[in-house]
Amino acid sequence: MGVSALAMNGDLKTISDETIAELETALRGQLLLPQSEGYDEARTIWNAMIDRRPALVARCAGAADVIRAVRFAADDETQVYGLATSVGINSTTGIAGLTLGGGFGWLSRKHGLTIDNLRSADVVTADGKLVTASESENPDLFWGIRGGGGNFGVVTSFELDVHPVGPEVLSGLVVHPASAAREVMEFYRGFASDLPEDLNVWMVLRKAPPLPFLPEEVHGTEIVILAAFYAGDMVDGERALKPLRDFGTPIADAIGPHPFTGWQAAFDPLLTPGARNYWKSHNFTDLPDGLIDAALDYAGRLPSDQTEIFFGRLGGAVNEVAPDATAYPHRDAEYVMNVHARWDTAAEDEKCVAWAREYFAASAPYATGGVYVNFVPDGESPLAEAYGPNYERLVEVKRKYDPKNLFRLNQNITP
Ligand SMILES: Cc1cc2nc3c(=O)[nH]c(=O)nc-3n(C[C@H](O)[C@H](O)[C@H](O)COP(=O)(O)OP(=O)(O)OC[C@H]3O[C@@H](n4cnc5c(N)ncnc54)[C@H](O)[C@@H]3O)c2cc1C
Repeated sequence: MGVSALAMNGDLKTISDETIAELETALRGQLLLPQSEGYDEARTIWNAMIDRRPALVARCAGAADVIRAVRFAADDETQVYGLATSVGINSTTGIAGLTLGGGFGWLSRKHGLTIDNLRSADVVTADGKLVTASESENPDLFWGIRGGGGNFGVVTSFELDVHPVGPEVLSGLVVHPASAAREVMEFYRGFASDLPEDLNVWMVLRKAPPLPFLPEEVHGTEIVILAAFYAGDMVDGERALKPLRDFGTPIADAIGPHPFTGWQAAFDPLLTPGARNYWKSHNFTDLPDGLIDAALDYAGRLPSDQTEIFFGRLGGAVNEVAPDATAYPHRDAEYVMNVHARWDTAAEDEKCVAWAREYFAASAPYATGGVYVNFVPDGESPLAEAYGPNYERLVEVKRKYDPKNLFRLNQNITP
């Protein structure tokens, strides 16, 4: 593919220099700003009647560049207008797989899952036809793609509701040492049980990464992180987060106003591609003592520096939707836990996978039995568990849209 120019409009003042620099580094082709040499040439097109001045011009040197530029525009363009939709907690996670499995993140307690914001999608089905799925067109397919994954076709576009968010939001991390882990977990259980919908707090047990806001002597030691995000007014957020910030003696408190796009990218550096990863997951309605005991036990013997156990807070708007309204059924889950083993070399595979499986088993007695399909290693959990009472209806939709199971290299619903 030759070089193609992709122009992005918007107000550059609301996009940080770091964000622009990241895009520039990620592209194989050139990124041109109004002050860049070559900008005028790149923005000028054949018809002199059209004289536009895009905020950025990405001169893409291949499909990967186009993907990066489109993703950048989709993430950041809405924020130029102070708008966003509910997506995952990282900026690097693909929107398609995330949406098709459900999709939750910082905004979910206020605005629901990504699928709860989905108005329509264009889908190429197994017979090669492009169809629209929405409440009014092919509603059975629309129901199925909201949680049923890539089983019914290839989605070429999503139409999603957006909401006022930021551009600055109160967000950040409070970090405690492992010596206080039990008290922090018990505090979190009480605090997180009664949050306003604007507030979300996730808890992570792991070893301290070498982040600049953490003292050097802490790097590599076990810590508990409370990652907090407030979707609404900053002053209300300060008030809502006060008990969390007042609790105990944290190693660091890095909560403050951050650009929403920056917060969305905050964990990206810890999750770069190329490492070996193995995930297991449970849903919980609460965090009983036995679960806290198990988490502390396994967090005390993490198999690698990058491994973590996180508890994501759901509830709020997510659970206001009926379990059978979409294919995603877990509208009772208040917490989702991801046991995320992550390491670098094949020699560590056995140790890390075994640790994750053992902790998964130790925490199973406290779980709902349901599991988020996007957090399941392929083929490891029966899909009936992921979909519960919605499974039979998914099979019917599969029989209608993909009776020969063309789309089967996925979390497969067999027709
Ligand atoms: C670092 C990281 C962080 C994550 N954080 C979150 C989180 O905060 N919240 C959350 O909900 N999930 C999270 N996830 C899980 C995530 O939702 C899944 O990994 C999801 O599959 C990612 O989507 P993708 O498009 O990148 O997937 P891919 O790996 O590209 O695809 C996965 C599957 O999705 C289907 N698929 C993908 N694109 C299409 C399409 N266009 N049409 C039809 N089917 C398609 C296919 O079946 C494909 O096999 C995270 C994952 C990672 C790796």
